[in-house]
Amino acid sequence: MQKIQARYYTKGRVRPVRLIVCHSMEAPEKPTTAEAVARWFATSSPRTSTHVNVDNNSMVRSVDDGDTAWCAPNANADGLHVELTGYARQTRTEWLDAFSRATLANAAKVVARWCKKYKIPVRKLTPSEVAAGKKGICGHVDVTRAYPGTGDHTDPGKHFPWDVFLSMVRAELGDKPAAPPRFTRVLVYTKGKAFLRGADVEAFQARLADHGIDVEVDGVYGPATVKGTSALQRRLGFIVTGTVDKATWKAAFAKAA
Ligand SMILES: [Zn+2]
Repeated sequence: MQKIQARYYTKGRVRPVRLIVCHSMEAPEKPTTAEAVARWFATSSPRTSTHVNVDNNSMVRSVDDGDTAWCAPNANADGLHVELTGYARQTRTEWLDAFSRATLANAAKVVARWCKKYKIPVRKLTPSEVAAGKKGICGHVDVTRAYPGTGDHTDPGKHFPWDVFLSMVRAELGDKPAAPPRFTRVLVYTKGKAFLRGADVEAFQARLADHGIDVEVDGVYGPATVKGTSALQRRLGFIVTGTVDKATWKAAFAKAA
């Protein structure tokens, strides 16, 4: 891998690596963007850096894995950081176009190597899991949410295709594709009550997006997701309840999306 050493970083590490953090560069989709951003980290960046930059045809290292990049407050000491060409505002369709798929595939190679080297499980962490010190993969946004008051970065954005990306990482590692997630509880929104939250909500929202239903994949079962669920139920010819029961869950995850 080509290396252009970043200007700002800390030699060595004070804590063992446990987090892999994905970022979007907020830079245009060009085949030379990884190189350009690495050069920027080497010369003119305002006291920031990352470990690896990727675009559709290359990976460029800025900081060695054993050194600490300055990329996200609270996730630097124990984090590895990868910057993907693209923007946090991208829709799911834009993240899955030809350029982004090639970028995701390159990032998956980098992340798979890190998972193997540092024994990090291929799982997406929620902000509360990040805060609890769990090992896994997350976005800059999850670090921001885990430690309120430490910044406002929301990359790689609410439509980043985590499900597709993690399947690519698993494929790199030769792991079996993940089985469709099991139905564990009814997902329901009751007015005036606290929203249901969790990885199951996030997985279901990502699946709605696979079905072409525009919904924010944020792990919160609120009115917007109820709308999305209703749209899917209508399409399936189910009784429209806006509640995810076992039949709706199974139909959503059935093969053809
Ligand atoms: Zn970021």
